[in-house]
Amino acid sequence: MRADFAFERHGIVFIVSGPSGAGKSTLVDALLARVRDLTLSISCTTRAPRAGERHGREYHFVDRDEFTRQRDAHEFAEWAEVHGSLYGTIRRPLDDAVADGTDMLLDIDVQGARHLKRSYREAAVAVMVFPPSWDELERRLRARRTEDDATVVRRLTRAREEAAALGEYDYWLVNRDVEQSVARLESIVVAERAKVARIVVEGPS
Ligand code: 5GP
Repeated sequence: MRADFAFERHGIVFIVSGPSGAGKSTLVDALLARVRDLTLSISCTTRAPRAGERHGREYHFVDRDEFTRQRDAHEFAEWAEVHGSLYGTIRRPLDDAVADGTDMLLDIDVQGARHLKRSYREAAVAVMVFPPSWDELERRLRARRTEDDATVVRRLTRAREEAAALGEYDYWLVNRDVEQSVARLESIVVAERAKVARIVVEGPS
């Protein structure tokens, strides 16, 4: 006898946080290339685009007035000031994804993760990415040569503060090797998708 099952569930909001220099964006890109049906959430930011970044691909680049307008119109599910610029997660695509069972991937800081864990509750799954060591993080930040000494020191201090929020996260990983880190992230996605507690509708068999 053959049994076919069709289970339905809400979408999952996968959050990846970690200090700049931990290698998060490489991991996020590799995960998106590897896992099907995972959509990157594109945030709004007031920071200037870096070389190679395109409006609508890495971020929606907006000025402070436009950001403030969107914030005041409650268009953000969360927003935060990070390294002197404003960043916000657009609410609508996230709510639609959760409702239709689409999984989203967000690269946001600890403040954003805290906020979304509170509002999306069990639909939100947060992973903290650590660099191999604080010394290695400092080396990577200095190797970028795009930041002056004071900025590097500020980012290192912030990285340590952010790491203290680990207890609010569901998973962690130390990014020593990209391949291993992506495999770990993929395992997290696969396991979270397989949770019985997420089933909302048992379809016809
Ligand atoms: P970057 O400017 O290097 O792309 O990002 C700086 C930091 O801002 C990163 O830690 C990134 O995770 C965080 N970030 C990016 N978008 C958002 C967002 O929409 N909300 C919050 N809270 N943080 C964000």
